[in-house]
Amino acid sequence: MDLGVDIKSILEEIEKVSSLSDLYQLKVKYLGKKGIISQLNKNLKDIESDKRAEFGKKIHELRVLFENSYDEKEKALKEIERKQKLASEKIDITLPGFPINYGSIHPITKVYNEIVDIFTAMGFEVATGPEIESDFYNFEALNIPKAHPARDMQDTFYISEEVLLRTHTSPVQIRTMLEQKPPVKIIAPGKVYRCDSDVTHTPMFHQVEGLLVDEKVTFGDLKGTLTLFIKRLFGDDVPVRFRPSFFPFTEPSAEVDMGCVICNSKGCRVCKNTGWLEILGCGMVHPNVFKSVGYDSQKYRGYAFGMGIERITMLKFGINDLRLFFENNMKFLSQF
Ligand SMILES: [Zn+2]
Repeated sequence: MDLGVDIKSILEEIEKVSSLSDLYQLKVKYLGKKGIISQLNKNLKDIESDKRAEFGKKIHELRVLFENSYDEKEKALKEIERKQKLASEKIDITLPGFPINYGSIHPITKVYNEIVDIFTAMGFEVATGPEIESDFYNFEALNIPKAHPARDMQDTFYISEEVLLRTHTSPVQIRTMLEQKPPVKIIAPGKVYRCDSDVTHTPMFHQVEGLLVDEKVTFGDLKGTLTLFIKRLFGDDVPVRFRPSFFPFTEPSAEVDMGCVICNSKGCRVCKNTGWLEILGCGMVHPNVFKSVGYDSQKYRGYAFGMGIERITMLKFGINDLRLFFENNMKFLSQF
């Protein structure tokens, strides 16, 4: 008795399949609900009763045959797939790994810390204040009333008429003096802001402010402190000079120059052939400043100084473009 199907071609069909998805299609074709073998089972009831048992046995044999060769093929295809996957995901552990790049401290932070260390070793305490300031602390109390020409010296970011981004760290002097009685001996490092942007100016930069107030303070003390500071930072051999200058909050005022570290005082482009570089401003605290914080200017004297950390960092490391500090170029930063 014949089932009406070609067993040989079915087995060949399985053999020819080259992917698991095609193989699953064959399962549907033969064993699915409407599959060829399933259909034979359904037709069983129409077979004459005396031949039914034999017919059923043959269908069963066909099914077993199909399933066996299907399982075998499935196993073989899965093995091929597994090998392909292993080959494509192979990792060559003999290749050298990627080196880890360590970060380094930003040159500004380095010099900032160095300056703070030098002054704290001389007994100065670190004081801080807000970067958003009122006109009073930033100008008024520092002897720079409204309409004072000195306001033009600093291009200010105003938030409102009375509120601004501090243009210097000097307001920390005022805040400290309003909070404590003399003696005062502080440095105030921090960020300051001015509307200015070119090769030598950035809208944000860092300053360190210093203030010392006591009963017997002289300009000689100021000279001694700053000369020692510069020699600690740039070396004992560097010459230092004080030049008369003007600041509204100090009287007398001076600017401090040191011998050009780029050309060893011989004269170069950086020092404009003078052999000198200006690095900070200073002076004796103006009586009007003492008045605005309620200190008795007959009893107390003080000195103050301020410097830009970016400028000092540029001189210390021979950097000629201020913008390098803010570009986060790893090649530049990793040198420090
Ligand atoms: Zn020079």
